[in-house]
Amino acid sequence: MIRIILFGEPGAGKGTYSAELVKKYGIPQISTGDMLRAAVKEGVDLGKEAHEFMKNGELVPDPMVIEMVHNRIQQQDAAKGFILDGFPRTVTQAQSLDQMLHKMKIELSAVVKIEISKETIISRLSGRRVCTNCGATFNVLTMKPKKEGICDKCGHELIQRPDDQPETILNRLAVYQKDTEPLIEFYKKKGLLRPVQCEGPYNEALARVFGALEKVANV
Ligand code: AMP
Repeated sequence: MIRIILFGEPGAGKGTYSAELVKKYGIPQISTGDMLRAAVKEGVDLGKEAHEFMKNGELVPDPMVIEMVHNRIQQQDAAKGFILDGFPRTVTQAQSLDQMLHKMKIELSAVVKIEISKETIISRLSGRRVCTNCGATFNVLTMKPKKEGICDKCGHELIQRPDDQPETILNRLAVYQKDTEPLIEFYKKKGLLRPVQCEGPYNEALARVFGALEKVANV
């Protein structure tokens, strides 16, 4: 059983590593960003409200994401473990998560902190392209799709996320520094933080992510 938080700046590769961990451990990825984008696409009230924050690279208010995670984490598939990707992003969210887990009588296994340089982050975010249908991620610089603009997995169109535009990227990084970085200390104090150096070749970085979880995974 393993319950992980994947932590890191926007563009650090949380979504990509999550997909690998889903395959390895057979547990669901719970991505608040994906859930919010789905709500925006469906045009439901939550999506309309969230979109106003997301398009500027701001965080969506805590109560909205906390409720989403609260509902999601109690679903059947999450009973065998989960990967939280993009949540928590504020100390308030982390404290609410603690309360949820406490009530459910479960504990986190580890918080994997993906470490990469600012230059890599900016090139990843500006080169990132996502599939409009299945959400698969590519990069025009480092992880090109076989056919330009087309998803390898499902054949649908690839687009640039509106919040991956240069001005919004800078704002998202500033928001991370202000609101999300304090969580490093929060989880360090709990003895859960596992920093992983993810610069360099992808397969080597992935092996280090897996390695960081070897001792905590009991599967
Ligand atoms: P992501 O795909 O994780 O980069 O998230 C995209 C956007 O969704 C973020 O820039 C925020 O606007 C919003 N978002 C995702 N997760 C959270 C969260 N835990 N708290 C607040 N806003 C979030």
